[in-house]
Amino acid sequence: MLKLYNDLLKKKEIFKPITKRKVSIYVCGPTVYDQAHIGHARAAIAFDVLRRYFLFKKYKVTYVSNYTDVDDNMIKTANEQDITIYELADELISAYEAAMNELNVLPCDISPRATETIQEIIEFIQLIMKNGYAYESNGSVYFYVDKLEGYETIFPRKFTKKSSQDEIHDQDTMALNEYEDEKKGEKDFALWKKSKPGEPKWEAPWGEGRPGWHIECSSMIRKYMGDLIDIHGGGKDLIFPHHTNEIAQTLAAVGTTLANYWLHNGFVNLKGEKMSKSLKNFTTISEVLKLYDSMVIRFYLTSVNYRSPINYSVEGLEEAKQNFEKIRDFYGFIYHLKTLDTVNDSELFENVKESYNNFKKALDDDINTTKAVSEIYQIMKIINTWIIEKRKDITKRTQSELLKFLDDYSKIFGVILSDNQDLDDFITKSHQPSTKEQEQIMSQLIELLIDIRSTLRKKKMFDVSDKIREKLTEMGIELDDLGEKTIWKFKN
Ligand SMILES: [Zn+2]
Repeated sequence: MLKLYNDLLKKKEIFKPITKRKVSIYVCGPTVYDQAHIGHARAAIAFDVLRRYFLFKKYKVTYVSNYTDVDDNMIKTANEQDITIYELADELISAYEAAMNELNVLPCDISPRATETIQEIIEFIQLIMKNGYAYESNGSVYFYVDKLEGYETIFPRKFTKKSSQDEIHDQDTMALNEYEDEKKGEKDFALWKKSKPGEPKWEAPWGEGRPGWHIECSSMIRKYMGDLIDIHGGGKDLIFPHHTNEIAQTLAAVGTTLANYWLHNGFVNLKGEKMSKSLKNFTTISEVLKLYDSMVIRFYLTSVNYRSPINYSVEGLEEAKQNFEKIRDFYGFIYHLKTLDTVNDSELFENVKESYNNFKKALDDDINTTKAVSEIYQIMKIINTWIIEKRKDITKRTQSELLKFLDDYSKIFGVILSDNQDLDDFITKSHQPSTKEQEQIMSQLIELLIDIRSTLRKKKMFDVSDKIREKLTEMGIELDDLGEKTIWKFKN
């Protein structure tokens, strides 16, 4: 039975999904204004292991993680580089996704971007306002914190003001000092920010502006997953204000806590301090990937329980490299081992089974990867003593059980030990596009056809362009040419 540490209650709880055998997971993704660092990789990998464990347990998993693609830092960086925030986002998102792919992080089912969710964000803000928990002031909209009873105890924690070291998004709460007069209460945070000259902006009922950071996640979850999901994840630093505010918004709008389980991963520390952009003490993923095999990095980051801090160091990575190689070599050794079925190794077989069970029990206990990996070391020791020191053979049955154990370790931890492993079933089965994804793909395909059609028309190849229109009409899709632009809709 899987238990997860729920930060809403500050204790481990038995996981009960909203819908049987299904689990919905949303994880706050990066703000794309600079190269991703090891702290980002840790968060992505921690929740990837959680997702993989659910897949291993035969759950149908919906996994969504966003990109914050508009914020003050991005505007600054884009201006410095003389590019648009969209160009900056595209460049950094593709670099991030390439790194995640190399680190064997399963692709998200959906990875929404804030700038593609503006309409839903506006509607969500309107709902909060209608319920009386937000107000407009000088073209911006603020969440009225004092109106929401229990705000300060959403997560059982002491309510403190943020320290000066806090992360990048403080603009939403801190920079409001600048706008202190606009707010009714000190703790109020921006849902919609009136745009300053030269900033990217969108039309809204309160005037041109852009969304605050917190409203983004609440709106995306609502758009793609509904009003209540199973698990919401992110780094520990997000508990306040980000996750507190996400919950406050959703409570105010629809009356749910947004997710039943709130899980937070520990920091990656560098020389005792949290690795972060704002402290400028980070090591980028691409820097580490130049030095170490991606599987070594993954092994390093998964060998520590997701809630514990990792003290990042080259020595630690070196040690991980050696340990990983030992496990990898052990896998190869067992895989190629000649077995002998006349030998009595039932005691050894029981040892393997017990270790394998303990491994799963450790994962059931709030994904305790440290303990789970220790079971691998344990069984390696027992097997090596048997084969090398006692010079005894093992049976096919023990070999198969052992390989099954190691293959399952590989699948769940995402650490590949050998090209001989058959891990495909796990990953391909997990990746059926959701209905929402299929809809997105279909829209993109129609847009693509419209683009091709206008190119053909420009080249005066009307026979082919008309054919496209005709075929689309047959399929129930109507095209409307409005000057340069063509819009489409389903025929009623
Ligand atoms: Zn978020």
